[in-house]
Amino acid sequence: MIKLSVVVPCYNEEAVIDRFDARIREVLGALPIEYELCYVDDGSKDGTFLRLRAIADEHEKQTRYVSFSRNFGKEAAMLAGLREASGDAVVIMDADLQHPPELIERMLELFERGHGQVIARRTREGDKKVRSALSRLYYRGVNKWVDVELTDGVGDFRLLSRAAVDALISLPEYNRFSKGLFSWIGFDTVTFDYQNAAREAGETKWKFSSLLNYGMDGLISFNNRPLRLAIWLGLTLSGLAGLYAIWIAVAALTQGVSAPGYVTLVAIIVGLGGVQMMMLGLIGEYIGRIYYETKRRPHFLVKETDRSRTRHPFAGSDYAVGRMDGRARVVATDREM
Ligand code: UDP
Ligand code: MG
Repeated sequence: MIKLSVVVPCYNEEAVIDRFDARIREVLGALPIEYELCYVDDGSKDGTFLRLRAIADEHEKQTRYVSFSRNFGKEAAMLAGLREASGDAVVIMDADLQHPPELIERMLELFERGHGQVIARRTREGDKKVRSALSRLYYRGVNKWVDVELTDGVGDFRLLSRAAVDALISLPEYNRFSKGLFSWIGFDTVTFDYQNAAREAGETKWKFSSLLNYGMDGLISFNNRPLRLAIWLGLTLSGLAGLYAIWIAVAALTQGVSAPGYVTLVAIIVGLGGVQMMMLGLIGEYIGRIYYETKRRPHFLVKETDRSRTRHPFAGSDYAVGRMDGRARVVATDREM
């Protein structure tokens, strides 16, 4: 019998987590498999953590949980979940029931036919028109620039084989752009479509600005082509400036010297200044990434897991002293997990 792990990152999902848990157990319980749920509380500020504890108490055997010391972001939460997961196959899904649990059966079927990654791609029906048009445009543009293929509508909802999971967690980088990582590791990948559902409760953690930043990450995380672009742009501009200089010289020789072009001059200076700033920013962005990578900080800090939980009178309150192996510890880092 194969064992399936389901990794669920949760950030402020108090409103929906119980409903999610009931639905997923219903679906998984009906399948001829063994399963475990790996919840990751990404430093939620509401009662998510206490709900997870309660769920773990109720279904002790099939529940793992990890709770972070603060919000480290979904990428870190997924990494923690993948490290916890012990199954032959691992499904990653959101806690808000936007990823229909019923699709897991289909995923398992495809997994058993030998696929290493089974991706559920959502259709954009029901999305806001502007946003889906922007996304389509972005993906069309970005795929010319990055080395890995990024696909519209493909998110983190997918099944990964053990080998694919091991490959993912062996990548040590600090800046984890998982859309790119998933694509980078390869393995025999298959995709099927599903109709996106609306969030059941709670609210999305994505603001428009964070989407823009995410888009920038997508461009920069996977290659140095933007730097190449900077070189080509610089060369083109110098070429144009050379031609312009020749043109001016010829005009001066044939028509005499005049001093027009105040507007042209200002436009060129400001325009070039802008290009230079942009390129500096671009280089700075790469250096910033090098800076973060060289610090070798852990991806997240753990406050408590189902195994480190203290079973003393304080347990059950928000008061958590993560104890590992009987030694009092405030936190464990991800390198120790
Ligand atoms: N999430 C997380 N950490 C964060 C933000 C989000 O673990 O900092 C989780 C969240 O709880 C949910 C999933 O990531 O399970 C997707 O988040 P959300 O539904 O807000 O994103 P959307 O579906 O709108 O893209
Ligand atoms: Mg969602």
